[in-house]
Amino acid sequence: MWTCERCGAAVEPGDPARLAWSVEREPDGRESALCPACAREHVRDIEARLPREWW
Ligand SMILES: [Zn+2]
Repeated sequence: MWTCERCGAAVEPGDPARLAWSVEREPDGRESALCPACAREHVRDIEARLPREWW
């Protein structure tokens, strides 16, 4: 199951709604998930905060 990092919304494995979620794998292997609504709101933040390996 993924849980949205911002609003706490959850989606079950196999739910077609997962296709709209934004999930990134962190360097430590953790998955960071955002529901579609939060991903849309924060797409600019996400793009601005580049992964550290890009620095
Ligand atoms: Zn959310």
